[in-house]
Amino acid sequence: MSRYWSEIVRTLTPYVPGEQPKIDGLVKLNTNECPYGPSEKVLAAIAGQNSEALRLYPDPQASALKAAIARRHGLAESQVFVGNGSDEVLAHIFMGLLRHAAPLLYPDISYSFYPVYAKLYGIATRAIPLAEDFSLRVDDYLQASREQGGNGGIIFANPNAPTGMPLPLAEIRRLLQGNPDSVVVVDEAYVDFGAESAVGLIAEFPQLLVVHTLSKSRALAGLRVGYAMGQADLIEALTRVKDSFNSYPLDRLAIAGAVAAIEDEAWFEATCRKVIATRERMVAGLQTRGFQVLPSAANFVFAQRPGSDGAALAAGLRERKVLVRHFRAPERIAPFLRISVGTEAQTDALLAALDAILA
Ligand SMILES: *Cc1c(COP(=O)(O)O)cnc(C)c1O
Repeated sequence: MSRYWSEIVRTLTPYVPGEQPKIDGLVKLNTNECPYGPSEKVLAAIAGQNSEALRLYPDPQASALKAAIARRHGLAESQVFVGNGSDEVLAHIFMGLLRHAAPLLYPDISYSFYPVYAKLYGIATRAIPLAEDFSLRVDDYLQASREQGGNGGIIFANPNAPTGMPLPLAEIRRLLQGNPDSVVVVDEAYVDFGAESAVGLIAEFPQLLVVHTLSKSRALAGLRVGYAMGQADLIEALTRVKDSFNSYPLDRLAIAGAVAAIEDEAWFEATCRKVIATRERMVAGLQTRGFQVLPSAANFVFAQRPGSDGAALAAGLRERKVLVRHFRAPERIAPFLRISVGTEAQTDALLAALDAILA
């Protein structure tokens, strides 16, 4: 606290990212990064950048990247917005499209950055509880909107975080049909690991915005690239916010690497397949050890072991150099651990550490 702070700084509750400790030999399963390195074509594209060119500002619109993303998803370049990680893209969405008089709706258990942005931008919110089984009930959103006479927008992750549970596309369509008057944001950070993307609904629904990141399924969390897709007028709102904030969110190296990543479909498909196969083996291994695992379509699982304390398990794993994520709040997820899918060897290390703890 300092007398030099702007008034708003005192009221903020910043997001707390998962730890990035510098401990050798750590099995790091706490932030849902890809356990494999990115496509070699990404590194080649970055290395191939002319160092002389770094003297010059990058393309403020990152057109080459928007064109590559548009081609991959069957969209026009005007339907794509890119930013410095999808967190930045989300921030611009909150500012540009979700800041209205009526409260923004999101699940009570979801990506914990959403309430942080809402607070930063002074957006009223209403958290809609997930069902007992942690599924998202579309009817609850439609009913809440009726009760409060509309909403300022709806945002959720699909698959949800930290549960990993997917929402079927038919349910997303039903939500869009019942909610034509405000923006619906589907954060698809983990969609490539087994959920159905809503990108195909963009032509039909002018209020739909779909957000992707290169941090998870493209193994590029360190490059900081994310993007949003929607009809051109929604994208234009985001561009207006961006150009009032930072004209060059993506540097030359990030643009070159991201284009190569989007274009390397073979690496992408092989890597997602590998992660999904390891996830299934990890789920079976956890179940054998008495865990209840929520159905995951992501590169992580959310699991609890009746009779074991979530925080104690996480601490025990940490002592054995296996890092997982534990959330103390809200109360009903406190028994759970969120465990990222690692390599085969990391999965063996996780299961061996659990055996040691439970012995
Ligand atoms: C990881 C994650 C993001 C942020 O991704 P970046 O592109 O690395 O900023 C956004 N939403 C959800 C749900 C995530 O889990």
